Amino acid sequence: MSPAPSRPASLAYIGLGSNLDQPRKQVATALSELDALPLSRVSVASRLYASRPVGPQDQPDFVNAVVALETYLSPLALLDQLQALEQRHRRRRERHWGPRTLDLDVLLFNTTLVAHPRLQVPHPHMHTRAFVLRPLCEIAPHLRLRGQPLEQWLAGLGDDVTPLA
Ligand code: AMP
Repeated sequence: MSPAPSRPASLAYIGLGSNLDQPRKQVATALSELDALPLSRVSVASRLYASRPVGPQDQPDFVNAVVALETYLSPLALLDQLQALEQRHRRRRERHWGPRTLDLDVLLFNTTLVAHPRLQVPHPHMHTRAFVLRPLCEIAPHLRLRGQPLEQWLAGLGDDVTPLA
């Protein structure tokens, strides 16, 4: 990520998910693409996990991962980059909570709170989703959400999220 501006990078956590068109490959490719974003680099990536879909069950299981991204982008500039990346994966959005080739969410951005029509950070549903919390807990077990450790949020959720071999 060069050139590095003379201020510290921000640390963003990004959630990845795919359940269409070779999901493991979609997520693996997206990990390298995130590392190649302008003014950004992936500092840690979780393993890949398999999870049951939320919402309609007549769709394939998801492959999920979470990365820590060091970035000099602003939260909205990062969202623009993530949405462009989703488009490059020809994301289809035919139905709410339906299958998708690639879904990228900004989970956290430092300790910044963002309440913008296009972007809410922390991601408003992340503390209810084991497919986010399990990989996040692998790479950042110290994090707390709404004052509570990740493990504690996870304990209250059914855990059908399993690491892929
Ligand atoms: P989804 O279909 O769940 O990926 O939602 C995409 C929509 O959520 C887009 O219109 C984004 O502008 C909006 N959005 C709001 N907050 C976030 C966030 N933290 N990360 C990604 N997208 C977000």
